[in-house]
Amino acid sequence: MKNFFDMTMPSDGRNEAFARSAVAAFSVICSPDIEEINDLKTAVSEAVTNAIVHAYPNEVGLIKLHCEADSDTRTVDVIVEDYGKGIEDLDAALEPFFTTSPGDERSGMGFTIIQTFTDGMSVTSKVGEGTTVTMRKVFKSC
Ligand code: ATP
Ligand code: MG
Repeated sequence: MKNFFDMTMPSDGRNEAFARSAVAAFSVICSPDIEEINDLKTAVSEAVTNAIVHAYPNEVGLIKLHCEADSDTRTVDVIVEDYGKGIEDLDAALEPFFTTSPGDERSGMGFTIIQTFTDGMSVTSKVGEGTTVTMRKVFKSC
């Protein structure tokens, strides 16, 4: 059975925990194990944190989160979208250890973590228009 929810939130740091918890609670219909759900929470956290920190560095903007779950295939798709500053060099941004904020204790590992902890990630971005991160998690354990 397919199910989905949408949420729109301001890029307030406090919403990162809410977003990852909302996805985790919703994903329960796909019967994940603890490790799998923690992997998905980490991935969502990285994407939402990027939107808060990088998309809207000096302002509060909107972050849209769409989550779909298919309990038959035990697949969860998450889309995190912002309308902020966008990414100038996407190929570089996707490389491990690439960060435009080294002074803020960023390690440049967010996208790499999402790729590692999910079963697929894609990113589209346009300077001045925003960024969309799509990720898929397939729960495999029984
Ligand atoms: P870390 O995630 O380890 O704290 P980071 O956020 O810099 O560090 P990534 O998450 O891999 O590392 O992102 C790489 C770079 O891509 C960022 O430094 C930033 O320049 C850019 N970026 C990522 N997400 C966005 C976004 N939503 N809007 C604008 N720029 C982004
Ligand atoms: Mg990051």
